[in-house]
Amino acid sequence: MSALSAFDPALSHAIDEERARQRDGLELIASENYTSAAVLEAVGTVLTNKYAEGYPGRRYYGGCEFVDKVENLARDRAKQLFGAEHVNVQPHAGSQANMSVYMSVLQPGDAFLAMDLAHGGHLTHGMSLNFSGQLYRPVHYGVRQSDHRIDFDQVARLAREHRPKLIVAGASAYPREIDHAKFAEIAKEVGALLMVDMAHYAGLVAAGIHNSPVPVADFVTSTSHKTLRGPRSGFVLCKEAQAKGIDKTVFPGLQGGPLVHVIAGKAVCFQEALLPSFKDYAKQIVANAKVLAETLMAGGLKLASGGTDNHLMLADVTTIGLTGKIGEQTLDRAGITVNKNMIPYDPRKPLDPSGVRLGTAALTTRGMKETEMQRVGAWILTVLKHADDATVIERTRGEIKEFCQAFPVPGIG
Ligand code: PLP
Repeated sequence: MSALSAFDPALSHAIDEERARQRDGLELIASENYTSAAVLEAVGTVLTNKYAEGYPGRRYYGGCEFVDKVENLARDRAKQLFGAEHVNVQPHAGSQANMSVYMSVLQPGDAFLAMDLAHGGHLTHGMSLNFSGQLYRPVHYGVRQSDHRIDFDQVARLAREHRPKLIVAGASAYPREIDHAKFAEIAKEVGALLMVDMAHYAGLVAAGIHNSPVPVADFVTSTSHKTLRGPRSGFVLCKEAQAKGIDKTVFPGLQGGPLVHVIAGKAVCFQEALLPSFKDYAKQIVANAKVLAETLMAGGLKLASGGTDNHLMLADVTTIGLTGKIGEQTLDRAGITVNKNMIPYDPRKPLDPSGVRLGTAALTTRGMKETEMQRVGAWILTVLKHADDATVIERTRGEIKEFCQAFPVPGIG
């Protein structure tokens, strides 16, 4: 019996149930992944015991000689992986990474330009209830109605009109490759700084499949747990000119002691992403997404922008008589996990939108390839088209559970 199950059976049982859910179902949430066993191990170490306010070599606590090594490994690897001049690996999550950039360059009330949440942006891109919408003055661009691609004419027009100090590129639900150079051109024209939030596609950037924002952006923020496949956390890359400002804003501006155990997990993740095998993994994510998208479209689902260039897609399930909320719940009953999501120009509300968002990063980690994506797509279509048929849903759940056994989850089996 483990220490945890002996001491706290209720908690241990809940974790066991979650482990089984992750193993027995199809994980298609676009922002999720399965970390390696090595990342899991790093995050579960004695490093969680250590306070290390400050930065390597400049701490406010004693006994930091070994955690300095940990943080330096994470920093050096991140710089190497992305070719960045400076990195801060201390943000606890993606939201803190974004906050650190805003706080280092904006004053309360300042305008910044970012993607509308309803068109694929993130909460931290100026949503009214988020700190970013409360403290600053977000101006939002979106995608064109005709093809659901970023409307660069609108970005340029809004930038000229509002003269923001900061332009934010990057998104949570945009299925196409983002042209960072175009954003940089507009930022330069209006004298704005450019921040690219590559949280979703950082793994594709690391693998050289998505164009890198690092050469053209003043700041690049990211999470480490999506396509990059690390622990749940964040980091900021920036030019040397911005390094002092960012470091000061992360600590002591926003956070106290860094989560050194999670920084260790990030160090492992960056090292893994430097391997040639990670390139193959990232290529497979995109190949899988293409096949899944084609399968879903062939089965009658409409996808935002008509497909995908990256790891994710947005499927309009109203085309088969469901809503996003019902679609999510129905798929969940069959062991397929997705999230309901607005589609661009959605006539419905965020809590029950028209779409669901799906991504292939996690299934690709399990070793699934194009053939499996056809099968997964067929299951999704069957379940959505038989949302009221408990027998079909139960049968599919069983088929999926059996199928999943052939694709072990790292660290679970
Ligand atoms: N930025 C983008 C584009 C995201 O999609 C997310 C998370 O989904 C975040 C930032 C925030 O990350 P976290 O949930 O770690 O705060």
